[in-house]
Amino acid sequence: MNIQQVFVNENNNREEPDFFKFCPHCAHPMAEKMDNEIARKYCPACGYIQYRNPLPGVSILIIQAGKVLLGKRGPASFRPGTWCLPGGFIEFNEDFITAARREVLEETGLEIEVESIINVCSNFLSNRLHSLVILFRASVKGGTLHAGDDLEALDWFLPEGNLPEMAFESDTYLIRRYSAEPISGIPAEGISGC
Ligand SMILES: [Zn+2]
Repeated sequence: MNIQQVFVNENNNREEPDFFKFCPHCAHPMAEKMDNEIARKYCPACGYIQYRNPLPGVSILIIQAGKVLLGKRGPASFRPGTWCLPGGFIEFNEDFITAARREVLEETGLEIEVESIINVCSNFLSNRLHSLVILFRASVKGGTLHAGDDLEALDWFLPEGNLPEMAFESDTYLIRRYSAEPISGIPAEGISGC
């Protein structure tokens, strides 16, 4: 089965995987063992196993007057100068909807109403970074548009028109998909005003 929501960056796998050389708990040198056919680093002294998992993130599709809001990535960010949907990684102590609201406020100055979950994507970005991104549709309910956090500019683009150079293939896919067939998605129930 060809799953549309999986994106593999073939050109960005030169990075070494971020395996620990020493145990982060007891500083003993790490060793390797097979665990269900997956090679895992582990600590022979204390038993710690380094599990590597995708990082969960959120992206937010904000449509206003038929245009989608994109941000230009600043010099310190991953793939500087390219554009992306507002979003970022979920902090340990927050739920995924709070993360969406926080990221949009930090990056765009806008307060949003999260309306629905419209897609989920796996992004194999490099040997060190594999993200699992939840895409929300949201509307603007307040705030003043200004680029913040790691974005240096914001602009509105026609979803079906020419897009600037995009940082993530998944963002382009999601914008085009939405443009071709607007979908209401899974309602973000019971979260209004919470
Ligand atoms: Zn250890």
